[in-house]
Amino acid sequence: MSILYNKIEVRIDLSAIRSNYRLLKSHGSHVIGVIKADAYGHGLFEVAEALAAEGCDTFAIGSVEEGVALRKHLLSKGIKARIMSLLGPVDPEDYAPLWEYEIIPFIGGFRQLEEVAGHAARLGRALPISVKFDTGMARLGFVEEDLPRLLERLGEAPLVRPVMASSHLATADDPDAVDFVMEQGRRFELMVGALRGAGYDVEANLANTAAILAHPKLHYQSQRGGISLYGASPFAGTAWEHLGAGLVPAMQARTRIVSVHPLKKGHTISYGGIFTAPRDMTVAIVAAGYADAYSRGLSGRGAQMLIGGRRVPQVGRICMQMCAADVTDLPDVRPGDWATLLGGEGPLAITGDELAGWWGTISYEVFCLLGMNRRVFIGA
Ligand SMILES: *Cc1c(COP(=O)(O)O)cnc(C)c1O
Repeated sequence: MSILYNKIEVRIDLSAIRSNYRLLKSHGSHVIGVIKADAYGHGLFEVAEALAAEGCDTFAIGSVEEGVALRKHLLSKGIKARIMSLLGPVDPEDYAPLWEYEIIPFIGGFRQLEEVAGHAARLGRALPISVKFDTGMARLGFVEEDLPRLLERLGEAPLVRPVMASSHLATADDPDAVDFVMEQGRRFELMVGALRGAGYDVEANLANTAAILAHPKLHYQSQRGGISLYGASPFAGTAWEHLGAGLVPAMQARTRIVSVHPLKKGHTISYGGIFTAPRDMTVAIVAAGYADAYSRGLSGRGAQMLIGGRRVPQVGRICMQMCAADVTDLPDVRPGDWATLLGGEGPLAITGDELAGWWGTISYEVFCLLGMNRRVFIGA
């Protein structure tokens, strides 16, 4: 998906993603590349190819539909890889492609299980699945009490083949929540043990980025790394910040300045007049607004951007396709110059976490949203 009516240019540095994957591999044993939601806005196909070049042999995507798109692309490039769908089949149309495009679905409920069993029987073809357990996230997955019925139903559906067991951690990024993480690990081991006891030789994976970096005890056979691939750390602002050292940001977002003009002391700018010039100022009108996923919620929150190599504050309400920045101290700024909203060169670069802080969210959301703008890829 791409916004086609605007001026924001998102640059994706694929060599940064490759470097981050190598760093993750140095911690984990078998790192599955999590590239759901268009690789967190970084480009599903391009990121998959970059990771495959680093030896990544398994990709986790969201919907089955996204998995189908990825499989077609990988086939066209001659790349062999396992594809797993974290969401699993949702709509009736999601089932047949699991066989046709060899997608390993997370199966986390009896309804999904009955559907795949029925399809497998009708097709007469086996389907490898990942059994999804709920160990504390309370989102998707079989819980401990489901085990007897789960094993019984699996026993009656021999074409449904559990090859993996998965669960998801809720608090692995929080240094104060280690007890909860370990409790999730304990429940996971119990449930994986029950599957193995019934004869299913499953590959267990529980760890996300935070657990790959902070909880080596929970690595099991494979790990699912997402946010770190894109150069952001899940530990920003915590006592574990150092664990994200060495990650290289991969996304930059910049746009054009369309006007530069004076704003007299005491005058306001943009809708609602929420900003009043405290002195005679020069403002730049920047081609970025909430329709380009530069959220209106950033208005008046102290957000900064990079213009002419300097940090400048955003001022006034953010409009649909424009916003303003204070460039009073930059006499050489002209229309047509770049304004960098995310990333940039050197120590002044705006990190995903910083932008997320002004935005009141996390880097994950900043990447997913800004990544909907037109992208160019570098460093392949
Ligand atoms: C998104 C996701 C991940 C990756 O998490 P990160 O924090 O980005 O590493 C892993 N597992 C599941 C089930 C997910 O949905």
